[in-house]
Amino acid sequence: MLVVDDDPALCKLVSVMAKRSGFMVKSTSDPRKFDNLYSNDLDIVVLDLQMPHIDGIEIIRSLSERKSQASLVLVSAFDAGVLRSARELAESSSIHVRGSLEKPFNIRALETIISGSAKRKKLFTPKGTDELPSVDELATAIEGGAIHPYYQPRIDMKTNELVSVEALARWNHPTKGFIPPFIFVEMAEANGMVNELTEVMIISSMRQCAKWKSKNDIDLKMSVNFSYQSMTDISIPDRITDRLLSIGLDPSNLIIELTESAVMSDTSATLDTLNRLRLKGIGLSIDDFGTGFSSVQQLYRVPFNELKIDQSFVRRMLVDKGAMAIVESTIDLARRMGMSVVAEGIETKEIYDAIKDLGCDMAQGYFIGKPMPGKDLPAWNDAWQQGEIFNS
Ligand code: C2E
Ligand code: MG
Ligand code: MG
Repeated sequence: MLVVDDDPALCKLVSVMAKRSGFMVKSTSDPRKFDNLYSNDLDIVVLDLQMPHIDGIEIIRSLSERKSQASLVLVSAFDAGVLRSARELAESSSIHVRGSLEKPFNIRALETIISGSAKRKKLFTPKGTDELPSVDELATAIEGGAIHPYYQPRIDMKTNELVSVEALARWNHPTKGFIPPFIFVEMAEANGMVNELTEVMIISSMRQCAKWKSKNDIDLKMSVNFSYQSMTDISIPDRITDRLLSIGLDPSNLIIELTESAVMSDTSATLDTLNRLRLKGIGLSIDDFGTGFSSVQQLYRVPFNELKIDQSFVRRMLVDKGAMAIVESTIDLARRMGMSVVAEGIETKEIYDAIKDLGCDMAQGYFIGKPMPGKDLPAWNDAWQQGEIFNS
């Protein structure tokens, strides 16, 4: 990745974040060095539009002349109109634009764009946005049940038993193949369809939950990811509780996950909704903890009862002291605040053991089990109970 921004602090911030996401990064606060730093193997160029000597528009022109295959992330302190028009210019010059951000921006937003690019590159041929489904296709997929949950197991680290699953939305498009959730969730959010998506996820996952209970005698809690947008709707607590009761489940079977950045940008409507969900017995979990900027005071204000340590820290904890410090202090913080704590992204036995030694309550990750269709869960559970997965 190449970062070109005349603000050295911003270059540094973006570089640190990108390295954390696994990128090799070059950066400069002097745009005149762009020519020397450019190479054809760049995946992403993060570009400030307004800089001294050479502005971002000139660099876009240069990228186009070089027929660059890199995706562009535009940043600017100007208003959204400038960003939009620079984006159009880049696209009309055959440069693929991954995203644009107004300064000052939320680092999480940049992270989403950047990690999105990395994953997208692997999953799609680099033709760009033509490969993405249309908004109409998304609406049809939500309505028609083409988007449905897969379930990833979570185990209690003390008893080693399966205690809950996280429902993760999956969409296998008939011609475009597997569409990663961060793409269609973002599309649903941007096009006012996220409540429908959440509803579909809740109904199918809760039905599945009831089925495991009655057919397989597996009684689990179900974690469902919510968008921040849904939390501003104060009718949500009653609607969800009614749904659960009509399926024959208790509200305590459901855990709602919200990302840390969503939780912290709270409004009074969100606090109203969150409090009423808790009062009805529904669990509330802060997802991707460690990636936002919440303070202990903010945590104190919101009625959450679970923290999920972001997988980027868990995956690196044995090789990166900073990541280890975050994992340790999150477990400690959760315990002191009386919240339970989940480590996600556990990919190896070594990390599983280390997390267990730190006293983490619950574990989730590929080492334990990947997200799977509901029908596969009972067989997975048998194998897990017999130690076939753990000892393999
Ligand atoms: P998340 O809620 O933090 O979910 C965890 C993600 O990490 C999932 O990716 C899961 O497949 C992946 N994962 C789990 N264990 C491991 C591991 O050991 N290693 C690695 N490398 N990855 C692991 P997925 O399914 O692609 O979902 C990505 C994100 O999309 C989710 O992050 C969540 O924020 C969002 N999402 C998924 N389904 C929904 C949904 O129904 N509604 C909303 N609003 N967001 C959703
Ligand atoms: Mg989650
Ligand atoms: Mg997460």
